Amino acid sequence: MKEKFSVIVIGAGPAGTTAALTLAQRGIKDVVLLERGNYPGSKNVMGGVIFTTILNKIMPDFLEKGAPVERNIPKRCFALLTPESEIFFSFKNNEFNRPPYNNIFTVLRGKFDKWFAEEAEKAGVMLLCNSVADELIKDKNGKVIGVQTRVTEGTPKEEGQIFADVIICAEGANSTIALKEGMREKFDQHSMAIAVKEVIELPKDVIEDRFHLEGNEGVAFEYYGDAVQGLFGSGFIYTNKTNISIGIGVVINDIMNAKLNPNDILEHFKEHPCIKPLIRGGKTLEYSAHMIPEGGYKKIPKLFKDGFLLVGDAAGFISTSPLHEGSSLAMASGMMAAETVIEAIGKNDFSSVTLSSYIDKLENSFVIKDMKKYSDVPEVLKNSPELFNKWPGGLASVLTEVFTISETPKEIVEENIMNKFNYEIGFVPFIIKIVQLRNAMKSFYYGFSKKIEDFVATHW
Ligand SMILES: Cc1cc2nc3c(=O)[nH]c(=O)nc-3n(C[C@H](O)[C@H](O)[C@H](O)COP(=O)(O)OP(=O)(O)OC[C@H]3O[C@@H](n4cnc5c(N)ncnc54)[C@H](O)[C@@H]3O)c2cc1C
Repeated sequence: MKEKFSVIVIGAGPAGTTAALTLAQRGIKDVVLLERGNYPGSKNVMGGVIFTTILNKIMPDFLEKGAPVERNIPKRCFALLTPESEIFFSFKNNEFNRPPYNNIFTVLRGKFDKWFAEEAEKAGVMLLCNSVADELIKDKNGKVIGVQTRVTEGTPKEEGQIFADVIICAEGANSTIALKEGMREKFDQHSMAIAVKEVIELPKDVIEDRFHLEGNEGVAFEYYGDAVQGLFGSGFIYTNKTNISIGIGVVINDIMNAKLNPNDILEHFKEHPCIKPLIRGGKTLEYSAHMIPEGGYKKIPKLFKDGFLLVGDAAGFISTSPLHEGSSLAMASGMMAAETVIEAIGKNDFSSVTLSSYIDKLENSFVIKDMKKYSDVPEVLKNSPELFNKWPGGLASVLTEVFTISETPKEIVEENIMNKFNYEIGFVPFIIKIVQLRNAMKSFYYGFSKKIEDFVATHW
C-alpha cells in the first residue's frame, strides 16, 4: 500500500464520508477513509432521520443515485406522556412531500453509510474497512503526520503506519484520539446521553395504516415525560419502509441517579398504553446502543492543531435544539474541514494557522450560530427536572379536568382547572420557567416579549 496520502479521514460516518467525498470531488484523489467496522454503518446508530441540506449541496442528485432513504418525513409529532395519558402536538405540511422533501428522511445507517461511502469510493476515495486508527504519529515539532492503524477483523488489506499531510478525525461521540490528544475533556456524565434503539419489523401496509401514511411518506415522533420515566431525555419512533425505529435517549447522570438501566426504560416505553398498539405484532430485528454528546456549544473541544482537524460528533457538534440535528452538523463540519484542507493544500501549509480558517467557516455557518443560540439550553434543562417528571402529570391532570364529562357546572370546572394548575405546576413557577427557557433559547418571541417587558417596566 502507498504509505503517504494527501489526507487521512478517520471514521466513515456522515462527517468523515462527507469530508472524504468533498475532497475527492474537488480533485484531491489520494484520500484514504479508515473505518473500524467491517463496512461503513455496521457499527453506527441513529434514530434516525437524516437531514440532507448538506448532502443536497455536495450531491444534488442523491435520490437519483439510489441513496437508500426509507421515507420522507412531512410530519413531526411531539408528545408528553404520563403513565395513563398522552398530550400530543403534531405538524404536517404536504409541501414537504415534494422535492426536496424538506431535506428530511428516515434512514437505516447500515444501508445509508455503506451507500454513501461507496459514492465516495466512486469519486476516488480509498476506503479501508476493519481498520482502526489507534493513535496519531507526529514529527519532532509536534505536527500530526500520520496514524497508527490496527486491524479489527476479517482479512486486512493493510495495517501499520500510514502518513498524510493532514488528518481529519470523524470518530464520533466517543473519540478516543481527541481524548488522548487532550483536545477534549473526558465527557462528564451530565453532558453525555446514552441511547438504545430497536428496529421492529412490521408489514408495509400495517405501518401505513397504523401511522396514517400515504405512499412513501413517513412520520417522526418524539416523546417526553413517562416515555423515559421522568428523566432528562426522550423516546422516539421513526417509520421506515417495512420496519420502525424505536428508542430512548437519557442523560447518563440522570439514569445513574435513578438507578435505572437504558434497556428497562426502553421496555417501559414500549409497554406504554399509547405506544404498545403502534408496535403490536412487530418482530425485533436489531438492537443497538450508542452515546450522544449533549454538552452543546460550551463543551465544544479544541477543533484543530498542526496537521489535524476534528469534525462531527467527535467535535461535539450536536444542536441542542428540539430538532436534534446531528447528521446535518456532522456533514456540514465534514464539508468545511475538507474546504479548509483544500486551501491548506493550495498553500502547502498544514499548520494550525492555516487550518484555523475552519473555525471562521464554522462560525459563519448554521453550525456554530445554532449551537451558540442554544448554548444555555442544556444547563436550564439540567436544572429543571420538574419539566420531565412533575409537569407532564400536572398538565395531564389539568386536561383531564377540562375533558371530563360530568354534571359539574362549568363555572366550578373552571375554578377546579385553575386550582389544579396552581397546585400541580404553579402560575409563578410556570411563568418563571417560560421566561428562563425563552432566554436560554435566545428566541421564542424574544424580541416581542422583550418589548412587552419593557412596556410593563416603563408604564407600571
Ligand atoms: C440513538 C441515536 C439517535 C439519533 N438520532 C438522530 C436523528 O434522528 N437525526 C440526526 O441528525 N442525528 C441523530 N443522532 C445523532 C447522529 O447519529 C450523529 O450526530 C451523527 O451520526 C454524527 O456523525 P459522525 O460521522 O460524526 O459520527 P458517527 O456517525 O458516530 O460515525 C463515526 C464513524 O467512525 C468510525 N470510527 C470510530 N472510531 C474509529 C477509529 N478509531 N478508526 C476508524 N474508524 C472509527 C465508526 O465506526 C463510525 O463509522 C442520533 C444519535 C443516536 C445515538
